[in-house]
Amino acid sequence: MSDDGPEGAVPDTSFVPLLDARQRAMLAEMGVRVWAPRAEAVVAPAPVTTPPAPVPAPATRAPAPLTRPVVATPAPTLTPVAEGGPTSARPPGVEHMDWPALQAAVAGCQACGLCRSRQNTVFGVGDTGADWMVIGEAPGENEDRQGEPFVGAAGQLLDNMLRAVGRSRQASGEAGRGIYIANVLKCRPPANRNPLPDEVAQCEPFLARQVALVRPKIILAMGRFAVQSLLKTDEPIGRLRGRVHRYEGVPVIVTYHPAYLLRTPADKAKAWADLCLAMDALRAPSS
Ligand code: URA
Repeated sequence: MSDDGPEGAVPDTSFVPLLDARQRAMLAEMGVRVWAPRAEAVVAPAPVTTPPAPVPAPATRAPAPLTRPVVATPAPTLTPVAEGGPTSARPPGVEHMDWPALQAAVAGCQACGLCRSRQNTVFGVGDTGADWMVIGEAPGENEDRQGEPFVGAAGQLLDNMLRAVGRSRQASGEAGRGIYIANVLKCRPPANRNPLPDEVAQCEPFLARQVALVRPKIILAMGRFAVQSLLKTDEPIGRLRGRVHRYEGVPVIVTYHPAYLLRTPADKAKAWADLCLAMDALRAPSS
């Protein structure tokens, strides 16, 4: 697929030290705006020793019991997919499902041909009560094997990017520290080919329900397929970046896929600017 990086490549750690003095100075040199908690200057010359201030979760948000993918979720009984083509074997009522039902529905989905080649479905991971949601494209080889999104080289860069803004997929239940990560497709396209329109259409209700259940205050859409399928547009990322879009009423920030950034490190500065915009949008009163 176009956004997939070289799985197994040397881990990219270039986003890890973005908060130290040297990197801040470097970013300032590059003209890249650095997000910092309210009390700090936008591009602070001094090293940051504390993480960004926690953002309290809304009082109405339900407790988030499900924080890791449960690969062994029993699948509902469905009609097997027909050879050579998709079926409608997605359970009805996805838009009303709770987390366990949704996860089971994804685990047993046979709505498109990808169910024949997958090892695991890749549901999502992180804090289901998070105010940030990251949406990628589709599982790659490592994700298909492990049943978790973004676990390859691109995932390491994503984790470093998130760490640079004080977020982590492991920070479950910590207000303002967590993140929920999901893909548009829950199954790996064979040989990482581009997702087909029908595959995206069949999978869309699952992602829509994940967004409805998480109720994020901001969505970071990564890569062309995620961006274009969420925003229903053919416009390239370069023309969509830098402003706030909406998906089901939720503000969406568009950015490059981490696999692309591994191949094109010069654009990391733009990705950093996108993260800063996401932080700003999260804090904006209307978001
Ligand atoms: N690329 C994605 O978009 N998602 C993953 O989970 C892995 C690679």
